[in-house]
Amino acid sequence: MIYQRSSQLFAEAEKVIPGGVNSPVRAFKAVGGTPIFVKSAKGAYLYDEDGNRLIDYINSWGPMVLGHAFEPVVEAVVAKAQLGTSFGMPTELETQIAALAVAMVPNIDKIRFVNSGTEACMSAIRLARGYTKRDKIIKFAGCYHGHSDSFLIQAGSGAITFGSPNSPGVTAGTAKDTLLARYNDLENVATLIEANKNEIAAIIVEPVAGNMGCIPPQKGFLEGLRQLCTDNGIQLIFDEVMTGFRLAKGGVQELFGIQADIVCFGKVIGGGLPVGAFAARSEIMNHLAPLGPVYQAGTLSGNPLAMAAGLAMLQALNNDDAVFQRLEEKTAYLEAGIDRVLKANNVVFTINRVGSMISVHFDANPVVDFQSAAKGDNDTFKKFFHGLLQEGIYIAPSAYETWFITDALTYEDLDVTIQAIDKVSKTF
Ligand SMILES: *Cc1c(COP(=O)(O)O)cnc(C)c1O
Repeated sequence: MIYQRSSQLFAEAEKVIPGGVNSPVRAFKAVGGTPIFVKSAKGAYLYDEDGNRLIDYINSWGPMVLGHAFEPVVEAVVAKAQLGTSFGMPTELETQIAALAVAMVPNIDKIRFVNSGTEACMSAIRLARGYTKRDKIIKFAGCYHGHSDSFLIQAGSGAITFGSPNSPGVTAGTAKDTLLARYNDLENVATLIEANKNEIAAIIVEPVAGNMGCIPPQKGFLEGLRQLCTDNGIQLIFDEVMTGFRLAKGGVQELFGIQADIVCFGKVIGGGLPVGAFAARSEIMNHLAPLGPVYQAGTLSGNPLAMAAGLAMLQALNNDDAVFQRLEEKTAYLEAGIDRVLKANNVVFTINRVGSMISVHFDANPVVDFQSAAKGDNDTFKKFFHGLLQEGIYIAPSAYETWFITDALTYEDLDVTIQAIDKVSKTF
């Protein structure tokens, strides 16, 4: 396949947009080459500026779980646009989507809508800090909670307690309040809590990690976090921006039967428009302004186009009792196919999967945390990525990403993909 016009468009973009993109991972830096410029998309397919059709395994990084240009979402947005696109005043629509989300997700009474997953996580930790009157938070290496200062933190040199900024522009003052733990390592978390007695407001976690590939929580990990939080007066925040409305109607809280204190949403909840949200039981949510003292606001929050898209998406998921089962079966079929052809071609690999989140790691060892995810062979990944692109298959341009399976994929699409992986992996 030829991606000539995309290359030209990228050169034009680079002149006026830093790196030619509005979000770094789109730039193909981890795999080399130039990004594909998309023109349109429908169902499981992308159509690019060169006239290529690609089978899409990113799906806008998650939101398009029912496929691109999903008819009910498109219709809802078009109809709303005719009636005015923003008011800065309350609408009935906001109550409708809030009520549906609260009905679908266990253990939440109230929900506040924002414009991105970043905002949701940023606001959730402020709420947790306001509620507990404590400053510090624990996050896990390799988990992503958006690009706000408190989360752009790496392990501090030698110190087990303090984090340090992993981007210029994040102050040391902010970094000192974020402690970094290893995913799937309860003992590590317990040590941090012990060393910072009565100072930790929240533990924030991707309950199934998706930003270092897909990494499932090991048996007892989430249960252990719940117990540690309960015992120490710490708020447990599930960042379900990726997993929410994807792994189950009620997200990981439902899937594994574990209750968080605050839950963050994004991606699917907006049906492809810019939406995030955070939610909790009333007792916690009532601390938010205007009811309580914890400030949080947004000019475009609850925007009617975004809420119309989100409501149509949640309704479609809520009304389809088989959708999560279908996603599970399709992804399991893909997993079995990839496993079969990679083994046949003597490739060293590990596949991780939970429901419709799946990742292929080019390493023989179990991938259970950031350290083990980082061991994957990136040269092989680059060959894999570019080989698949030549076959018309679009996976995330980084080895640290999960694939996002959409229900719009047919078994024929999956077979085409498995055959392409067979062909490409013969060239490793
Ligand atoms: C994508 C993501 C975010 C950030 O959401 P944005 O809408 O990109 O700001 C936060 N947390 C998780 C788990 C995510 O996957």
